[in-house]
Amino acid sequence: MTKKPFVTKEKLEEIAAAVPTPFHIYDEKGIRENAKAVKEAFSWNPGFREYFAVKANPNPTLIKMLGEYDCGCDCSSYTELMLSDAMGFEKDKIMFSSNVTPAAEYQLAAELGAIINLDDITHIDFLEKTLGYIPKKICCRYNPGGLFKISTDIMDNPGDAKYGMTTEQIFEAFRILKAKGAEEFGIHSFLASNTVTNDYYPVLAKTLFELAVKLQKETGVKIKFINLSGGVGIPYKPGQEGNDIRVIGEGVHKVYDEVLVPAGMGDVAIYTEMGRFMMGPYGGLVTRAIHQKHIYKEYIGCDACAVNLMRPAMYGAYHHITVMGKEDQPCDHKYDVTGSLCENNDKFAIDRMLPEVEVGDLLFIHDTGAHGFSMGYNYNGKLKSAEVLLKEDGSFEVIRRAETPKDYFATLDGTPEYEKMFGNK
Ligand SMILES: *Cc1c(COP(=O)(O)O)cnc(C)c1O
Repeated sequence: MTKKPFVTKEKLEEIAAAVPTPFHIYDEKGIRENAKAVKEAFSWNPGFREYFAVKANPNPTLIKMLGEYDCGCDCSSYTELMLSDAMGFEKDKIMFSSNVTPAAEYQLAAELGAIINLDDITHIDFLEKTLGYIPKKICCRYNPGGLFKISTDIMDNPGDAKYGMTTEQIFEAFRILKAKGAEEFGIHSFLASNTVTNDYYPVLAKTLFELAVKLQKETGVKIKFINLSGGVGIPYKPGQEGNDIRVIGEGVHKVYDEVLVPAGMGDVAIYTEMGRFMMGPYGGLVTRAIHQKHIYKEYIGCDACAVNLMRPAMYGAYHHITVMGKEDQPCDHKYDVTGSLCENNDKFAIDRMLPEVEVGDLLFIHDTGAHGFSMGYNYNGKLKSAEVLLKEDGSFEVIRRAETPKDYFATLDGTPEYEKMFGNK
């Protein structure tokens, strides 16, 4: 099974004539269909809400689109809160799942009426000192420690993760918060990332549901919601089978009926905070091959670099590459596909089999809709690219312009060097 771009070569050439490469392109149709499927998969739970993880793709055009399917925003920083507010998300539609949180961020979250998710038991005091009170609605992040397994498969290592409270601490935290006036409680946990199995949410849900029953019984608090957070993955590799959100929703429904309903907790709302699953497959990085190099290996050099997509450099992550217009040609050439950073890890692919690439070819790097543009940085003074939306009617719109040198130097305003380059306009 091969992976096909959601856009044709002709369309990309048309866009590239107006928006210089590289750019990220997003597929409106795909985003909408998936958001609708997520909502339907959890429609059995009346309080359900997906809070899109803003860090995955902080583009307002895309997030407002998700808002049409009743999604909220999951924030973890001051600017993400500002953006969510500016987009019109209010109160309970903002979840603030931060860690190592500065006081000013709790302050803003409280002003916006966001649901605050405490990462640590010491944050109770910190929050109370910051705000002067404890909000009526509050959430605590849980970390069960040890290894997170699905049957015998080790999915991740929560015992090694900086997030959340231990089991003992979360019981203690709920007692303290209740004594300080909190009335509505939530539990949150994120135990494994990019899981490509329909079992992740149901297994996590069972752990959290059982914990919720014990917490409610032993501390007497009212649990209003359980936040399964992110971690639902996507098939980055060709041939990999993707998750089926309907199966996932039903899997969570089943454990809900088995654990929460018999405990008299059939009114608990389920929240999710997916980023990757909501947006990942519906974005691509479009770049042009601008050089070829033959030394000890064969290299294709493109006009994009790790600044535009960091995951391969940072995690050795696989991103599929389609050479536009050569989809039917045999993959009989082995290349390293690189960017121009003075860093040897600036490679989108290593030893990748592709059709013969010529200078001028457009490459489509798949699955960059989440944790793509947003992880960008400015190393080597490289600038961030534009973002383009491919609309349902086939037209396109620039939804973020590319950075210019002036953006890059803007924080030097007032220095003679800046004045020399740009004047004081
Ligand atoms: C990153 C993150 C998410 C989203 O994770 P995905 O893997 O993109 O689904 C959700 N919640 C929190 C608290 C996160 O840090």
